[in-house]
Amino acid sequence: ATPTSIMVGTGRAAELGVLFRKGDALQTLDSCKVVAFDKTGTLTEGKPALLRSEAAPGWDADALLRLAASAEQGSEHPIARALEQASDGALSQPEASEAIAGHGLRATVEGRALLVGAKRLMDREGIALGVLAAAHDEIAQAGQTPVLVAVDGGIAGVFAVADRVKPGARAAVEALHAQGIKVAMITGDTRATAQAIAGELGIDHVEAEVLPEGKLAAVKALRARFGAVGFVGDGINDAPALAEAEVGIAIGTGTDVAIESADVVLVSGELSGVVEAFHVSRAVLRNIR
Ligand code: ADP
Ligand code: MG
Repeated sequence: ATPTSIMVGTGRAAELGVLFRKGDALQTLDSCKVVAFDKTGTLTEGKPALLRSEAAPGWDADALLRLAASAEQGSEHPIARALEQASDGALSQPEASEAIAGHGLRATVEGRALLVGAKRLMDREGIALGVLAAAHDEIAQAGQTPVLVAVDGGIAGVFAVADRVKPGARAAVEALHAQGIKVAMITGDTRATAQAIAGELGIDHVEAEVLPEGKLAAVKALRARFGAVGFVGDGINDAPALAEAEVGIAIGTGTDVAIESADVVLVSGELSGVVEAFHVSRAVLRNIR
């Protein structure tokens, strides 16, 4: 493309809230065969809410929620906010707490050893789900995130937390498909949860249970399978994948690190911006061919 056509194209995109930080992204975008989306905060609002509580025998669900929310007080994960907001009792300050990336956290609250997180955290710690296994699977199959809680080495409860899909998510997937582009999702969430949401949105391919440091490898795997990759993300964890993808597209309402790693920024965070970016790219390249 000529410098002038790139300037006109990036100017038109900017009016629509799509900022091209690098001019050559306009050309690279046209070669993308697959667009991969981060789930939490990108396809979804990133503000999950508590929907359901199940306690193991001998446990009261509200008391357990208060302990779990107390354990989460130092955490920056959106799940922590969901538990805190749903808990009505006064929270305790944890005596100790340690985040376990991609798994959950370990904390000591009121002298008790708590584990709060995904099934793979419990697997890692050798804690069986027992009577809660069915509730766990049911929650995941409904597209919600199961948050398991163990106290002093025994499973105590499971909470269902879910996040609203962004209004424009389905339309964006359909529009990408109409242009012959495959759509993928990359998430740390459990496979059943991820697949339920992908099914709802018409997404072709799911990389689930990806550890934070695994997102970059997931982009490489998608490239090997489909070709050039566009990656859309918002979080600190997404920065390496945004840099690795042929075109990194950051949600403008996301973290600064994500924005700095991206080639394109969607100012409002609306997913229609991804489709606009492709439209502008094609329009500019068509003019010069
Ligand atoms: P994502 O934000 O895409 O879900 P993460 O890597 O942050 O990915 O976490 C992967 C999974 O680990 C989450 O879906 C959740 O089940 C669990 N998890 C991580 N951090 C926490 C936390 N602070 N509290 C509860 N669960 C957590
Ligand atoms: Mg995210």
